[in-house]
Amino acid sequence: MRPDSQPPPIEMAASPKMNITCPHCQARLSVMPSQAGNAIHCPSCNGKFQVPIPMASPSGANSFGGFSSQSEVQAFASKKVTAGLCGILLGGLGVHKFVLGLNGPATIMLATTLGCLTVGACLIVPLFLVPVLHTIGFIEGIIYLTKSDEEFYQTYAIEQKEWF
Ligand SMILES: [Zn+2]
Repeated sequence: MRPDSQPPPIEMAASPKMNITCPHCQARLSVMPSQAGNAIHCPSCNGKFQVPIPMASPSGANSFGGFSSQSEVQAFASKKVTAGLCGILLGGLGVHKFVLGLNGPATIMLATTLGCLTVGACLIVPLFLVPVLHTIGFIEGIIYLTKSDEEFYQTYAIEQKEWF
C-alpha cells in the first residue's frame, strides 16, 4: 500500500468507473457502471456483495437521448413570464430577448430603439421604428405567454427562434 498510488479524489466527473466500498473489508473498489445491481466478489476479501445502483437522475430521462430533461424545460420555462412581461412592457428595448439569451436580435432591438430616440430624433425619419419595435416586442411577449412550457422550450431554447 503506497499512499502515493491512490487515484485522485475525483469520483463523479472524470472517471467512467464507479468507486464503491466493500461492505466486508471496507476496501475501495472501482467497478464499471454496468455492474451496478450485480453481485460481485470483492478482489480483496473475496466476500460477495451487491454493487449499489447509483442515484438515478430526478427525471429519469436519458440525457443522451433526443429529449431534454423535464427539469431543464422547467428551468427555461420559468423565464417565460419574465420574458413575456418584459416584451409587453418594455417591447422595443429587447429586454425580453436578453432574458431568453437571444442576444443578437436583442442587441439589434435595443440599438435601433436607442438610436431612433437619440440620433434618429435629429434625422426624424427613423422615429417611426420606435413604435414598430415596441409593437413587435409587445406581440412577442403575448406569444411567449400563450405557449406551453414545452413549446416555449422547444422554440426558444432548442430552435433559438429570434423573431416571434
Ligand atoms: Zn472486501
